[in-house]
Amino acid sequence: MAFDPRDPYDAAALYDMWLNCQACPATFDFEPERPLGLDYYHDIGQRAKTEGWVVREQPPEEGDQDVSYLVCCPQCANRLGLSPTHTHHQRHGRAPGTIMDICAAVRAAESEIAA
Ligand SMILES: [Zn+2]
Repeated sequence: MAFDPRDPYDAAALYDMWLNCQACPATFDFEPERPLGLDYYHDIGQRAKTEGWVVREQPPEEGDQDVSYLVCCPQCANRLGLSPTHTHHQRHGRAPGTIMDICAAVRAAESEIAA
């Protein structure tokens, strides 16, 4: 499995560069010494998913931002009654334009490093 911009976990990790719980100071910061790249964000997202973090794409608000994410650590998700399973249906949707743009920029940077 590679980075999937339609997966809110991968996308939120890319967008925020790591995952911050919005209800407490917890962060999910997995192997900070690894080089940043799409594989890294994908691993953060999928590891957080496995550990019970809740990440949901939020409907766009009026204004210029076309994407935002709700991020909750397992403890807060439990406390607030949020279930990670609700995210599955979002995988069939279209990836937000902002995510595709960041994704393309990171890919371009990666190919420059590799060249
Ligand atoms: Zn929390």
